[in-house]
Amino acid sequence: MRILWLVLLTAATLAGQRTELPKIEEWKGKTILVFTPHPDDDTFGAGGTLALLAKNGNRIVIAIYTNDDKGSNDLEMNSQRLAAIRKAEEEVACGILGIPKENILWMGHHDGMLEYVNSLALVEQATAIIRKVQPYAIFSIDPGREDVRWHKTDHRMAAMNSIDAVRAAEWHLYFPNHRLSQGLQPWKPEWVVLFYTKPSDANIWVDIDSVAELKVKAAAAHVSQWEPSIHKYRPDWDPADLGKFMAGFKARMSKKNGRYVEAFRVARY
Ligand SMILES: [Zn+2]
Repeated sequence: MRILWLVLLTAATLAGQRTELPKIEEWKGKTILVFTPHPDDDTFGAGGTLALLAKNGNRIVIAIYTNDDKGSNDLEMNSQRLAAIRKAEEEVACGILGIPKENILWMGHHDGMLEYVNSLALVEQATAIIRKVQPYAIFSIDPGREDVRWHKTDHRMAAMNSIDAVRAAEWHLYFPNHRLSQGLQPWKPEWVVLFYTKPSDANIWVDIDSVAELKVKAAAAHVSQWEPSIHKYRPDWDPADLGKFMAGFKARMSKKNGRYVEAFRVARY
């Protein structure tokens, strides 16, 4: 009997420390929430894994912090038009990955301005999304990679804000108005999975070999993010440019043991 208690206690302790790692390839029928700073980081950072999850019957909701209305070198472009272009491109990219556009939540902030949004309002916004969607797992951008830390304001802010919102969402006394006036209950996901992870920080690699083509196609759907469209906007690809882009993108995709993979850092908490 004493041995049985010892075994149970050890198992409970291990479970509390989250020593196991998720087998994302085996998830079925789960709800997955993805926080992305811009309407393309989800594709580039986790597109293959999301395609796999969609194929395996999981429900995926994409929450996008900004409308990406600044990143064009075309002097004829304006922010309102660019936001509309980026929205349409994201809907196409998500469609390729198997995520319907109805599952995309636009959080409505301007590109590059996330750090100047009221930080309390921003964490409350993300917390409410978690409580509404009630995800089994949350995907978000890793706050730790060097260029993410200092280069891109929205990446820094989205990374920290999403993690803060995960903590807030589980305790009903954070933003109690959610429960009292909107009927939203506290929620804690089983997993937080961070993309754009520094290779040495990664602790899981999802085999996306079977859906690698979908990731490349989804990346190509973000036409305005790439040359030549980023300098002189055009809504489509010249076939020669498209072929070159797809080959180059595929060549840069991570491989492990000869198969395409995506690396993630799974946060243990
Ligand atoms: Zn981005």
